[in-house]
Amino acid sequence: MVREGKVFLQTSLPSDIPQHGILIQIGNIRSFTRPAYAVSKTHPNKVYQILGYVRATESTVTLEAELRRLRWSLIVGVLTVSGLAALGGIWLTCESLKPVVQSFDQLKQFTSDASHELRNPLTAIRASIAVMQSHPERIHPADVEKLNSMAMASAQMSQLIDNLLLLARMDRQAPDQSGWRYIALDELLEDLVNLYSDRAEQSQISLKFQLISGVEVNGDASQLQQLFMNLLTNALQYTPSGGTVIVSLQRIGTYALVTIQDTGIGIAPEQLPHIFDRFWRADQARSQYGEGSGLGLAIAKTITQRHQGDITVKSKLGEGSCFYVKLPLAR
Ligand code: ADP
Repeated sequence: MVREGKVFLQTSLPSDIPQHGILIQIGNIRSFTRPAYAVSKTHPNKVYQILGYVRATESTVTLEAELRRLRWSLIVGVLTVSGLAALGGIWLTCESLKPVVQSFDQLKQFTSDASHELRNPLTAIRASIAVMQSHPERIHPADVEKLNSMAMASAQMSQLIDNLLLLARMDRQAPDQSGWRYIALDELLEDLVNLYSDRAEQSQISLKFQLISGVEVNGDASQLQQLFMNLLTNALQYTPSGGTVIVSLQRIGTYALVTIQDTGIGIAPEQLPHIFDRFWRADQARSQYGEGSGLGLAIAKTITQRHQGDITVKSKLGEGSCFYVKLPLAR
């Protein structure tokens, strides 16, 4: 709004007004003030004296309201667009993952079905081999070796199928805690050590245990047995004769800590990140220790995770390995 002003008081003017004028804003009022000079008629460029000041003033209330409105529109617009972009991204990711998830589910179903279907014929083969072995007089001496190899291979296949079936079941089903019970870990581990003491003796390995009593966890007894059996059989398998395997149990805060330590062949640092992968075996294990499918540690890890626990390993090539299993104590 422009108004023709009356004479205003000198004091309301800024103290130092340059020749080209000054723009000032006080609150919502913005004003431009410029001095007016008397000019010589004979010398138009020569300034005589200040005649007064010209001040143009306008209110910035409407402008600021408009700016505020624009700012808010911009914020709301940016938030809406980013929100929509994020939702769109999530939707697109879910859509593009659907076929992957579907084929993964189908693969798990196939593994489970195939393992299940293979079990029966394999059991029949193993039973037939056992019957033949129970009548050695009927076997031609040249076939005895072949029959023994068949018995070993079918036992390995059976173990592999059982492991695959167990993994497939655990992948497909959420942990069913209705069958869980309190398990005294010291008793479970002692039974396991006793079970494998003959094998350790045959391999000339000193198998020891250091267990404290009264450490209970809540879980599936057969799965926990399988977990520690896998670790213990590995320790015995990958430790040369003359070595030592120690199974120990401690209580640490609200956790039970089971360690299975051996003085065996050890694992190279670059191989450590892979040892819990399915079907992974170190080259040395493949070449020198034929037996094994590479599923034992994958099963151990899955069982530990299903019991809200954690499994880790420390190892030095040529010196030995130590597996640590942490399980929450029963409350
Ligand atoms: P495998 O049937 O081959 O024993 P696992 O999943 O139990 O399968 O182990 C995977 C690989 O990890 C083994 O092939 C071996 O290379 C390595 N490994 C596991 N335990 C030990 C151990 N105690 N000492 C040395 N190497 C081990």
